[in-house]
Amino acid sequence: SKATLFDQNSKVNVTFQDVAGLDEAKEEVMEVVDFLKNPKKYTALGGKIPKGVLLVGPPGTGKTLLAKAVAGEAGAPFFSISGSDFVEMFVGVGASRVRDLFKQAREKAPCIIFIDEIDAIGRARGRGNMQGGNDERENTLNQLLVEMDGFSTDKGVILMAATNRPDVLDSALLRPGRFDRQIGIDRPDLKGRKAIFSVHLKTIKTAPGVEPEELAEMTPGFAGADIANICNEAALVAARRNKQAVDIDDFNYALDRIIGGLEKKNKLISPDE
Ligand code: ATP
Repeated sequence: SKATLFDQNSKVNVTFQDVAGLDEAKEEVMEVVDFLKNPKKYTALGGKIPKGVLLVGPPGTGKTLLAKAVAGEAGAPFFSISGSDFVEMFVGVGASRVRDLFKQAREKAPCIIFIDEIDAIGRARGRGNMQGGNDERENTLNQLLVEMDGFSTDKGVILMAATNRPDVLDSALLRPGRFDRQIGIDRPDLKGRKAIFSVHLKTIKTAPGVEPEELAEMTPGFAGADIANICNEAALVAARRNKQAVDIDDFNYALDRIIGGLEKKNKLISPDE
């Protein structure tokens, strides 16, 4: 059922500590945390708090995690919805979902509304390339624009959205007063991967010799989500091998397996999605 399209996590327990690397992005969203905590501090001087922040970057690089951490740091509820959820909706439903989302968020303000894969609803209008669902998608997008124009951030609702295709977005979404702030989130470099491994190794019992630095060197091109996946796979493999701690062989096995694309149909161990 599509009855609960958005998740509302009243208690977000993700903080900036859980987000490794991404130092510049964190610095930028720190301001959003402050807006949520002290909106009056900003509006007292006549400034207008930005409504929307767009996180731009490849899949699995921590965009959702970062948005959640903003809510967590501000102690604010986090409403999330994915653009792809709208794709198969019946006519009229998408727009009313957007209305409901904003209504609920206004009641719970200060809070964050997060729209993942915003390109699925935010593609430029009038370029029909969806099979039949285009009018519906446009209605949904129009409703989103209406809602964004209709709320004032003094009330403490801030929108965050994520995409890896900013180039296809309707320019109306990027206008001042809408998603006028963009923050780039890149795939991690060596130092970033090391930091991400450090975060994910914290919850795993590792054997001596398992070092974030070495693992980072073994994983060029990997995004944070891949790193989280490897750590989990390695722990499962070690458990299956009845080990007391996860050693470098287990990480190597997990790495091969993930690079190999988990081709086997009857996998004994599945990744976390
Ligand atoms: P998508 O665009 O595919 O939704 P995303 O950029 O939103 O991806 P997340 O969903 O935030 O990526 O990341 C998935 C998981 O990968 C996180 O829950 C976390 O476990 C891990 N991860 C990703 N990036 C980082 C990071 N910078 N630090 C720590 N963990 C990370």
